[in-house]
Amino acid sequence: MHTSALVMFSGGQDSTTCLALALSKYDRVETLGFDYGQRHSVELQARHTVRQQLAAQFPQWAPKLGEDHVLQLDVLQQIGGSSLTEDVAFAMQADGLPNTFVPGRNLLFLTVAGALAYRRGLQVIVTGVCETDFSGYPDCRDDTMKAMQLALNLGLAQRLRIETPLMWIDKAQTWQMAQDLGGQALVDLVVRDTHTCYAGTRDALHDWGYGCGSCPACELRAKGWERWRAMAG
Ligand code: ZN
Repeated sequence: MHTSALVMFSGGQDSTTCLALALSKYDRVETLGFDYGQRHSVELQARHTVRQQLAAQFPQWAPKLGEDHVLQLDVLQQIGGSSLTEDVAFAMQADGLPNTFVPGRNLLFLTVAGALAYRRGLQVIVTGVCETDFSGYPDCRDDTMKAMQLALNLGLAQRLRIETPLMWIDKAQTWQMAQDLGGQALVDLVVRDTHTCYAGTRDALHDWGYGCGSCPACELRAKGWERWRAMAG
């Protein structure tokens, strides 16, 4: 029986929805974030606000929300070459991936998450990766997650489970999941307190949240919001 989870938590819409789901399912939930010199380090501040607000507004979840861990992974910045960690414009690469792709990022994140889960005695790793309407990042694929779960369990001699609740749903359905888990209060929290924008902009509050409105992350979030509002009528 799995009763405890470590949520890969960046402070964005997806990982906040995953955190809410984990709090609704498991008795003990800890969160893990990474500081890897990302341009949107405002995400790291959003993490604190989201955790605080979840505990304040959802008393049934508050006692389950355990420690927060933030680990430094500046090795990704040392390798460089991504528009997420360097001041270069968003563009497509010759191999068809956007230059926001940070090679090996999720592989590294999951390896570190597995090590931390081992130390903390946590049984499930929850991550908001998604194949459906994402940028085609190969380290977000279901097969990659299954292979990582196998590698971690072999290498750590554990029975960890990597859970990916958003893998097969789109952004509109992610908004719906927030609604199902915590009603309007959770939707409002996601809009107001989470951060997704790659540019790190929080100047203007749109219906779907704060952001520049034009980077790939904002576009995806805004489109998902509009589709969801259209579905909800
Ligand atoms: Zn943006």
